Amino acid sequence: MSAITFVEVGPRDGLQNEKTMISTADKLALIGRSIAAGARRIEVTSFVNPRRVPQMADAEAVCAGLPQGTGASFIGLVLNARGAERAIATGALHELGAVCVATDRFAIANQGQTSAESVASASAIVTVANAAGLHGQATIAAAFGCPFEGEVPEDRVVAMAEALAQAGPVEVALADTIGVADPAHVSRLVRRVAKAIAPLPVRVHFHNTRGTGIANVWAAVEAGASVVDAALGGLGGCPFAPGAAGNVASEDVVYMLHRAGVATGMDLDRLIDASRWLAGVMDRKLPGMVAHAPAFPQAVQE
Ligand code: ZN
Repeated sequence: MSAITFVEVGPRDGLQNEKTMISTADKLALIGRSIAAGARRIEVTSFVNPRRVPQMADAEAVCAGLPQGTGASFIGLVLNARGAERAIATGALHELGAVCVATDRFAIANQGQTSAESVASASAIVTVANAAGLHGQATIAAAFGCPFEGEVPEDRVVAMAEALAQAGPVEVALADTIGVADPAHVSRLVRRVAKAIAPLPVRVHFHNTRGTGIANVWAAVEAGASVVDAALGGLGGCPFAPGAAGNVASEDVVYMLHRAGVATGMDLDRLIDASRWLAGVMDRKLPGMVAHAPAFPQAVQE
């Protein structure tokens, strides 16, 4: 893979688990900085019950403030028909992201459904998105391991991806929601799913809970994943997955891929600036590493 499509998920997955409420203005500033750094697909919010995910209670306000006409495509995450209605009603989104879960116990904790029911509901959301003239995208959460059930059989994930592909999504994403994947597992599963849903692209979503996130991104890209999620600064965690830690950091992923000769369309310097700005907003050091390191290669000193 000599180029990938980069998806910034910081405004949604990066922030949803933060206890301190981030202002709508700061969320819009984060989105603006992502666009300025080159992001052409951004997960901007989710349409979920605000009592369960208070940080996303301003979904409509975020959508009302989105800068249209920049060429960036805005994704709203939805978990059910009600969420899809709310997302479509904003008139500000280009894509609906639907989520199903690879195991029953996590599916029930995350969205009150069995795994099979979650596939049916994600497929229905993709259908609704297409009918509304938007793109629909489907993610398989806990594709590499479950916080409640442990190992997830690869055959089950491949079968789920095949089922989702029938609904007409723009891609199927494999999410390591709790950050347990290793690069060999990622390589095997991405290859199998890519073959099963071809020519649909495989998108990947990794958390760095155990330090394997960036290695997993590389394994996925080598195995044929063409769409990669990351969150600025490495923020993030799932409210319904015990112990879930941050996403892989946008600036770390872009640094690695550029050094390895894989184009992302992103401007690393602007990402690093944005990550430092975000650390100020969050008032703490963020887990992403590249923003704390000296530039390389350095500008030549006269
Ligand atoms: Zn995530």
